[in-house]
Amino acid sequence: MTDPIYMDYGASTPLDPRVHAVMDDCMRNDFGNAGARVHSFGMKAAAHIDLAREQVADCIAAPKDSIVFTSGATESNNMALFGVLDYLRSIGKTHIVTTAVEHKSVLGPMAEIEKRGFIVTYVQPKPCGMIEGDMIAAAITPQTGFVSVQGLNNEVGTIQPLAEIRAVLPAGIIFHSDAAQAVGKMNFTLDQCGHPDLVTLSSHKIYGPKGMGALYIAPHIRAHIKPLLLGSMYEGGMRAGTVATELCAGFGQAAELVHIELADDLTKMEALRTLFLKKLKGALPDLVINGHSDAAWRAANILNIRVPGIANEDLLAALPDLAFSPSSACNATSTGHISHVIRAMTGADQPARESIRLSFGRFTTEMEIVRAADMIINAVQTIQKMQGAA
Ligand code: PMP
Repeated sequence: MTDPIYMDYGASTPLDPRVHAVMDDCMRNDFGNAGARVHSFGMKAAAHIDLAREQVADCIAAPKDSIVFTSGATESNNMALFGVLDYLRSIGKTHIVTTAVEHKSVLGPMAEIEKRGFIVTYVQPKPCGMIEGDMIAAAITPQTGFVSVQGLNNEVGTIQPLAEIRAVLPAGIIFHSDAAQAVGKMNFTLDQCGHPDLVTLSSHKIYGPKGMGALYIAPHIRAHIKPLLLGSMYEGGMRAGTVATELCAGFGQAAELVHIELADDLTKMEALRTLFLKKLKGALPDLVINGHSDAAWRAANILNIRVPGIANEDLLAALPDLAFSPSSACNATSTGHISHVIRAMTGADQPARESIRLSFGRFTTEMEIVRAADMIINAVQTIQKMQGAA
């Protein structure tokens, strides 16, 4: 019996042992409520949160006080999108622009926002998954008040040209980016990425704990964003609820590791990707790679592929010891796993039903890559033989 191989880092990353150590210490020793700064227990907890805020801010080169901790990227996206609605309505801006390849935690709120009377335009991507500046510019109207474009696509790894997009936006439009997958997989700093006004971050995509994330809010728009959760207000009045000290401390440590180790991580990922592709391409001449082909515009650690004629469901069934994703978990339907991202990129259902995402990371070994490639090749060839015999 061999151990299963984890190739689903896009869904969640393992906790880095260095993050675990910080969290463990915090849970054991610093259990106070950071809101209770009237005694030493509360102050020790608050110190963890202060440090974490600095570490997360440094990771994207933002001012420390612009980071609001949340329960994850889903909450951050909801807070960015719903929090701005009253302001947009008050200035008569009832049109929002986003893309067809956003994560469901953006598309779900957008559907609700449409029900509340806003008009939302979903810009369709190029076949490589990219949304260029002129594509966003073409969607802008005098009523547009808000634009939301992800940093890096979670399914195919295409990097969006945020600085180019920002450059085409008329002044006054609030620009949001869901960077849950971008941080740690590319050099994502505010400066490099067109200074979005709002940026969504997630801890468990960068080797930190689940249930933790943040929303960067540029100081000049803070007054325009309403909190989602009301009650005992923490986070500078932007969110109610006792802050989870140990999750914060872990997220902070994970962000610091990204800050220090990004270049090494990316070099390692690129080498693993090259090895993976060399093996797969050598044995599977029909292999199609989804996403951008230029290394500057794609994540090194996400490989989205398909072999025409082979359903992702069949691969899933044939590969119980390989943990990967047929599109993303939330896209499962009764007629198979259909990726809304691949469908938007190709305009067809068939490729969306055939594509799989393999994503690897800091703890993946060369041996795992070689074994995973052999397993995929074997599964594809077996299915093809069965199809030929039928
Ligand atoms: N946005 C993107 C691009 C994601 O990939 C994910 C997680 N799959 C999310 C948002 C939601 O993140 P969280 O699990 O932290 O809520």
